[in-house]
Amino acid sequence: MRIEKAKRIEQLPPYLFAEIDRKKEEMRKKGIDLIDLGIGDPDLPTPDPIIERLNRASQDPKNHHYPSYEGMIEFRTAVARWFERRFGVLLDPKTEVLTLIGSKEGIAHIPLAFVNPGDYVLIPSPGYPVYRVATLFAGGIPYVMPLLKENGFLPKLSEIPGEIAERSKLLFINYPNNPTSAIAERPFFEEVVAFAKKYEVIVCHDAAYSELAFDGYRPLSFLEIEGGKEVGIEFHSLSKTFNMTGWRIGFAVGHPDIVSGLGKVKTNIDSGLFQAIQEAGMEALQRYDTPIPNLIKIYEGRRDVVVKGLREVGLEVEVPKATFYLWIRVPRGYTSAQFATLLMEQAGLVVTPGNGFGEAGEGYFRIALTVDESRLKQAIERLKKVNF
Ligand SMILES: *Cc1c(COP(=O)(O)O)cnc(C)c1O
Repeated sequence: MRIEKAKRIEQLPPYLFAEIDRKKEEMRKKGIDLIDLGIGDPDLPTPDPIIERLNRASQDPKNHHYPSYEGMIEFRTAVARWFERRFGVLLDPKTEVLTLIGSKEGIAHIPLAFVNPGDYVLIPSPGYPVYRVATLFAGGIPYVMPLLKENGFLPKLSEIPGEIAERSKLLFINYPNNPTSAIAERPFFEEVVAFAKKYEVIVCHDAAYSELAFDGYRPLSFLEIEGGKEVGIEFHSLSKTFNMTGWRIGFAVGHPDIVSGLGKVKTNIDSGLFQAIQEAGMEALQRYDTPIPNLIKIYEGRRDVVVKGLREVGLEVEVPKATFYLWIRVPRGYTSAQFATLLMEQAGLVVTPGNGFGEAGEGYFRIALTVDESRLKQAIERLKKVNF
């Protein structure tokens, strides 16, 4: 029998890191010491009190059953209280908060709730690849909003043709941004609210990095903006804030009808998140004034070492105000892929070529600061010896 995959799988965009992955494997086999700056996954461990809470909660038989679909009311209440403390936004835990199995899960499922085949979904490029794929899985048509340096890596909503905007159901935005590390301020979000109202588009704000910001900067929630909750949903994650990527816990907050639409999809696909993990999530949200102690200082130190080193070798990079990424222009004469290959071959440095995040990422590469400072210093020493 011939196993034929569905068109939705066949139509997936090509996997652009295949060549890098192959080369990485080849060099590892040769015993070459690679410094991997490609991974958007914190290297530091989850704080002990969160782990201890999981340990206790996992032994409680009441947690051994199917959890509720929408999440424990205790977790959702902890989210609402955290949201009020952090952003000054009041949320009804019963109708405006939904537990997610990681925020990626919610992002991937939301088009199934609101997008009919042939509807447009507005997605940023470069961007987190899930926005595009989730759109395609729902039969929607991605419409790309390029994020350009001259616009501060914010989409220009006024350049979206009216007939596309009219036929769009969702608008994905993500600030602080992966991969560009750009941030958005209030006037941009206000423009988004006005656009959403005019065209009746649901705003999906991915706030995975809301707590990873530097030099005292505190990112906004989209729900703090007047009218934001009337048009939007915001995705939050415990992954980057509390070094919990492996635990799979996040949440969505926003307009009750948008939240319930996503909840409807989830009810029919998954059966909720292990309650012991939700208890651990409560511990995190209640115990820590996010960010967790020292985390920001550590990333700031790493950021400063790498930015200085990059500038010394003549690479163009801005000092990010948030996220643990650096978004760096490739030198003249190279494509993103060519330069990433050069760094791997000449210096054993693994970076992510920008075109992997969409066409508008061409001409850039991304470094993740998820490696300790001494190793980053070593990476810079190696970089200084590369000929480009
Ligand atoms: C890491 C990341 C997420 C997903 O995080 P989860 O672990 O699924 O909660 C979502 N969006 C962006 C932009 C990310 O970088």
